[in-house]
Amino acid sequence: MELIDLRSDTVTRPTPEMRAAMAQAEVGDDVYGEDPTVNRLQELAASMLGKQAGLFLPSGTMGNLAAVLAHCGRGDEVILGNRSHTFLYEAGGISALGGVHSCQLPNQPDGSLALEDIRAAIRADDPHQPPTRLLCLENTHNRCGGTYQAPEYSHEAAGLAHAHGLQVHLDGARLFNAAAALGRDAAALVEPLDSVTVCLSKGLCAPVGSVLCGSKQFIGKAHRVRKMLGGGMRQAGILAAAGIVALENMVHRLGEDHARARRLADGLRQVEGLELEAGAPATNMVFLGLGPSIPMTARQAAAGLEERGVLVGVVGGRRFRLVTHYWVDDAGVERAVSAFGEVVKG
Ligand SMILES: *Cc1c(COP(=O)(O)O)cnc(C)c1O
Repeated sequence: MELIDLRSDTVTRPTPEMRAAMAQAEVGDDVYGEDPTVNRLQELAASMLGKQAGLFLPSGTMGNLAAVLAHCGRGDEVILGNRSHTFLYEAGGISALGGVHSCQLPNQPDGSLALEDIRAAIRADDPHQPPTRLLCLENTHNRCGGTYQAPEYSHEAAGLAHAHGLQVHLDGARLFNAAAALGRDAAALVEPLDSVTVCLSKGLCAPVGSVLCGSKQFIGKAHRVRKMLGGGMRQAGILAAAGIVALENMVHRLGEDHARARRLADGLRQVEGLELEAGAPATNMVFLGLGPSIPMTARQAAAGLEERGVLVGVVGGRRFRLVTHYWVDDAGVERAVSAFGEVVKG
């Protein structure tokens, strides 16, 4: 039985085209800057995001960490969301490894930070206080349900930050999903921002890697940080080749995943006892819960779903996260809906 794996879009295996590109990739020693495939990926990502330069890293976590360490010194403060990936899920690296202090503001339901909150959090020049150096945003916003923010918000937030001498970094792990949902160019979403990380290994299906983009000068600093973190790789063109396929051929199809997420949500809404948020999912994530009429935990339900070949993310005692991606087709969506129907009927 083929598994329908809805736990995350990180489970996406490389496409056959990616495997072929990897097998044929021209490579060199990237620590010497001599891997032509890595160089091509970095230039491609930078040009798609409208930035001067890019840096290939093994993960989004390292991309965000390298960005924060390149923007901030020890004792500096970064403003970020209390539900942001960097705050919740990156092992506290910015503090543990960078000595960077964090100010956590409440994420709004759409994943943004309220401009008034940002304004109020920026510190005065006072020896008692850490200097506020950086604002970190996230788009799409993972913990807020794959929600996205429009370019107008980036402009307002960056305008405010820059007026106070702050830099702005975007965790754009799923930036291209936001661009697809808005029908805008990714570059338009990050135009006023100083740096941005995008993941190749989520909905874009590459096996490994993220690209951090920004000015030439900034990427020069981040390059040294990447080496310090142990992220300098040698014949990394094997991996970058898949990343090039991801950027060239997978970005334009993300809207299909969003359409399937809507279909999945519509189907699950018809299953008695399941509780879905009103409105269509913003991008490729569907969150749902078990209503009071269903006498089981999310873990128990997930075990029943697994017996039927459907894997789901459990994100609370009675809550699930389902993520659509390249390897989930229409039939997979239908199978997931009927598996839920069977399991909750008991
Ligand atoms: C996945 C993800 C990252 C980076 O994750 P890695 O697993 O380290 O590549 C960063 N931010 C967000 C919002 C993510 O979803």
